[in-house]
Amino acid sequence: MSKNVEKIFQDEQIGPVRLCKSARARRISVRVHPIKGVSVTVPRFLPFAAGMVFFRSRRDWVLAVLERQRSQGVPRTGLSEGEIEAMRAQAKRELPPRLAELAALHGFTYNKVFIKNNASNWGSCSAKGNINLNLRLVAVEPRLRDYVILHELCHLRHPNHGPGFHALLEQVCPGHRALRKELLRNPLR
Ligand SMILES: [Zn+2]
Repeated sequence: MSKNVEKIFQDEQIGPVRLCKSARARRISVRVHPIKGVSVTVPRFLPFAAGMVFFRSRRDWVLAVLERQRSQGVPRTGLSEGEIEAMRAQAKRELPPRLAELAALHGFTYNKVFIKNNASNWGSCSAKGNINLNLRLVAVEPRLRDYVILHELCHLRHPNHGPGFHALLEQVCPGHRALRKELLRNPLR
């Protein structure tokens, strides 16, 4: 599988939606698989954005199918191996540059950055000044991703969740408490 043929984004209600480029497809289509989840096939000659527009026009239908599958007791599992690998590649491309950008903007100095695959946290900061970021961050909205990055950067100065930490985070990420609430609506799985 070559790079850039797949993109994943997080829909607030639906969860991860996979956009896949296909050399054979002539038109855009949406599939709702009980295990693999929702995917949008986009002909290679069209941009991913066209797939997003099409998906939005079919969103109500997707929600109805998911509702039916759930009511019929079809289990929803976590991410597939393929989804994880696609997200990891995207995360390695997108997260370290964004971390570097936000650190420079606010005057933070970190040591190294690691992309992690876990269902226990969105990010963490080690005593050595290393920042760990969950690959699932590529599937949440950019402002929520930035919230997680800034949260971890603030831990470089405050390795706790005390008043000093929250004051600093509010300074670099106004409205951070509301952003956190919003983030927690995206289940880690
Ligand atoms: Zn924290």
